[in-house]
Amino acid sequence: MAQMVIGGESVDALSHEFTDIYNPATGELVDRVPRGNAEDVRRAVSAAEEGFKAWSRTAPAKREAILMKGADLIREHLEEVATLLTKEQGKPLRDASIEVGRFAENLEFYAGLATKIRGEQVPLADPTKYGMIIRHPIGICGAIVPWNFPVSLMGNKIAPALAAGNSIIVKPASTTPLAAIRCIEILNEAGLPAGTLNIVTGPGGAVGEEMLVNPKIRKIAFTGETGTGIHVMEAAAREMKRVTLELGGSDPTIVCDDADLAKAAAMISIGRFFNCGQACLAVKRLYVFESVADEFIDLMVGRANRLKVGNGLTQGTQMGPLHTATQRDEIEAMVEDAKKRGADVLAGGERITGEGFDNGNFYKPTLLVNVDPDSRVVREEAFGPALPIFRVKDLDDAIEQANRSEYGLGSSIWTTSMAKAHEAAERIEAGYTWVNDLHVAYDELPFGGVKHSGVGKEHGVEAMDFYLESKSIVMA
Ligand code: NDP
Repeated sequence: MAQMVIGGESVDALSHEFTDIYNPATGELVDRVPRGNAEDVRRAVSAAEEGFKAWSRTAPAKREAILMKGADLIREHLEEVATLLTKEQGKPLRDASIEVGRFAENLEFYAGLATKIRGEQVPLADPTKYGMIIRHPIGICGAIVPWNFPVSLMGNKIAPALAAGNSIIVKPASTTPLAAIRCIEILNEAGLPAGTLNIVTGPGGAVGEEMLVNPKIRKIAFTGETGTGIHVMEAAAREMKRVTLELGGSDPTIVCDDADLAKAAAMISIGRFFNCGQACLAVKRLYVFESVADEFIDLMVGRANRLKVGNGLTQGTQMGPLHTATQRDEIEAMVEDAKKRGADVLAGGERITGEGFDNGNFYKPTLLVNVDPDSRVVREEAFGPALPIFRVKDLDDAIEQANRSEYGLGSSIWTTSMAKAHEAAERIEAGYTWVNDLHVAYDELPFGGVKHSGVGKEHGVEAMDFYLESKSIVMA
């Protein structure tokens, strides 16, 4: 049975209660994890205080070496961790392997930055004195992670936090703790001082809440739903904690009349159906120029119907089940709502049943046209494999409709015109715009949303700023 990691030790919850973890493809029990609560978080905070003392005084080059070793060890255990991830989350094993590989790359990216943290010397008006700005770690950080990318979204938080010299406590989603626990065990084996990197499993309402209110945790890095994010920000404000919030999205994609339609259809299909549509950066609204709409929609329908859906552990599976029955109910309700408002279903629009499917949360890749823009699948974050398609007159029309959303995370445009690409990149309200590309949020580029999609950045050199405090010093 999996255990939490506190102070470098594998431990059960003080309550000795457990939570069962089920496979979303088969309904089978995968493992049990401790059901921690506020007391366990306080125990982790005490351990993280000790961890911080040791780690913040560890030479940057040694921090780099330990994180690099951690990345190597993760790669050595890639298959084991990826298999756990598929079993608890549902995604195809190939995608789980990519996610674990990305985690290792992310660790390496930030390991390299551990030795590049700089301060400044600043000339002052009084020539007998000089000013300095030094940068030091914040202290104990908390990472609250969702279930859709339990490993890579954890990496986005722990890698810069550790490179900067902080200690950290991770709270994984209640339904996906297993791969995260294994990663943290492995990283502890790389030589982190005890208490530097901890994981406490348990419900958001208990473990997460204590992390928000505990005054010793100085920073919260949260990824999850916008509603939860608002609560995190409000609660953290009472203790003047720093927060970075990576929240929901409803990414638009625009297909222009001069685009490479076959490439766009191939990439957008991946962009919508990857991880069974359960990605913050998934394509969630498609705007296609009227003059190429019929041809393009045919290509999309062909791709949706050919997608191989099944158990993530079966070779060749391209799309797994929804993560939970609730998630499937939600996407089903959104499709039904769109249909009631007049939408036509061109592909999918129903559950998948039969042998191998009946015990899992499967739903067909779904394409909708003639969709009322007030439908839930357009207004809300559709976290499942359903894509509404809209015909637009021109780029102006497309951008205007694309911006009609409370979210602003990712976006994309397909065109061979530099002028159109520039215009869209300038005018779409989002933290990211891909031109003739999709999916990869590079470690090198800062990533984060505008509007209701979040506050602050992960990835990039910029992410380090969210884990460092600056201090001004005057020397007389
Ligand atoms: P939730 O907001 O429900 O949960 C996210 C995490 O918060 C979980 O660990 C959850 O724990 C925890 N949590 C829940 N309630 C509280 C609380 N009161 N206090 C502290 N922590 C709490 O999101 P989902 O799990 O549904 O994740 C999907 C969402 O994540 C989507 O909206 C998606 O768009 C977004 N996301 C955003 C990304 C971005 O970078 N912008 C990237 C990927 C996803 P528990 O599981 O125990 O409830």
